[in-house]
Amino acid sequence: MTTIRLYNSATRRKEAFEPLRRDDVRMYVCGPTVYDRAHLGNARPVVVFDVLFRLLRHVYGPDHVTYVRNFTDVDDKINARAREMQAAGDTRDMNAIIRMLTDETIGWYHDDMGELGALRPTQEPRATEWIGAMIGMIGVLIERGHAYAAEGHVLFDVRSFPAYGRLSGRSVDEMIAGSRVEIAPFKRDPMDFVLWKPSAPEEPGWDSPWGRGRPGWHIECSAMARELLGESFDIHGGGLDLQFPHHENEIAQSCCAHPEGSFARFWLHNEMVQVDGKKMSKSLGNFFTVRDLLDRRESRVTGDMIRFVMLRTHYRSPMDWTEEKAEEARRVLHDWQKVTMDLVPSDPAAFVPSTVLIDALSDDLNTHEALSALMRLRSEPQRLLDNARAMGFLSDEGRAEFRDEWLAYSSGRGKSEVMEQLAQDFDRLRKDALETKDFSKVDALKAALLSAGLEVRISKSGVELEPGPHFDPAKLECIE
Ligand SMILES: [Zn+2]
Repeated sequence: MTTIRLYNSATRRKEAFEPLRRDDVRMYVCGPTVYDRAHLGNARPVVVFDVLFRLLRHVYGPDHVTYVRNFTDVDDKINARAREMQAAGDTRDMNAIIRMLTDETIGWYHDDMGELGALRPTQEPRATEWIGAMIGMIGVLIERGHAYAAEGHVLFDVRSFPAYGRLSGRSVDEMIAGSRVEIAPFKRDPMDFVLWKPSAPEEPGWDSPWGRGRPGWHIECSAMARELLGESFDIHGGGLDLQFPHHENEIAQSCCAHPEGSFARFWLHNEMVQVDGKKMSKSLGNFFTVRDLLDRRESRVTGDMIRFVMLRTHYRSPMDWTEEKAEEARRVLHDWQKVTMDLVPSDPAAFVPSTVLIDALSDDLNTHEALSALMRLRSEPQRLLDNARAMGFLSDEGRAEFRDEWLAYSSGRGKSEVMEQLAQDFDRLRKDALETKDFSKVDALKAALLSAGLEVRISKSGVELEPGPHFDPAKLECIE
């Protein structure tokens, strides 16, 4: 069996991956807070962990991998967006606005990530559906002396967990010095973080032993991971920006509430996304959502192109989005589409991916090498098609779209150029043949034109080619 090696942020080295249970490999990845379109930075972990999900499914079997990615649908940012909408004239109450906003954003997320070729995780829990589990976990933390209630809040007592900071390699005192911590009179220590907070009457809120309120962000992931994957599971993933404090806090909560478990054994973090060498930011004007890119009609960016650019860089390096890289992706993918256009994908259940591809991915997701391996398969179009699809490229929708555009192009603008040239070639060969009495070249070209579905009309004024009902522009391309 293939051995997958992964860089474990918790131990800071590459380790051979061995799941706790081979018949159920379990992975949790932090999902989006749903109030806005996903930007390029949000999309990177989706694509990276989709590749890992596909690899795990290949090695352990598609029915033996559980991938959980949550939706954070209760959060101060969501409340703030709902208030903005009210200020802009929305007369509905806050809960109604939030329900609409979060439902709509989840729909967008599915559409946009689907266009990037990402499979849906096995489970996508919404935080608001697991509030009871969060309240239960907070209760256990208080009982065990790791949390305390104060002024309607519940806080995690960071000093009660000696391993706090181990994942990011910092001591609590270093963290206090190096980060902006919220000072509040009810905190025992500035690093203590919120597990539960009170809600204003108009805000979303749930009854709890500490009054009506809502959970903090960190406890959401701990509670949902525990409910859906258990106290110990295999892989926890997310962006590097989540390592501290979010993942550090998840570990503290989960390990203190369930010391019998180990929580996640492998921690994987993807590096950040830049645009033209700079951090994405609204003020620099280089901030865009996945949908902005896909809708830029003039540059014709496809989901496959975004996926290709993302995977051309290793997940532990910063990924820089540039025009040159988009152009390379466009060239390669256009070529893949063209050479595989008339092929039918093999049954995924019967198809065995290329060993080179699997070896590259098994080496800490070396997607750059995996893409190079795919490019080397160009001379074997069927293998290219099947392996590219195993990597999440060349979806049915993308292929149908390419084919439609190609046909439209070939019968329209492209027709006049390519066909005009072929008609002239045919006319010249025919005239030569009348002199030499050797018609072999004319006959060969005519046969090729007919097999491409073209009608050949010869008149005194020259040769005219007309597409018939079975015209196939791909075959036209092959005529020399
Ligand atoms: Zn999380």
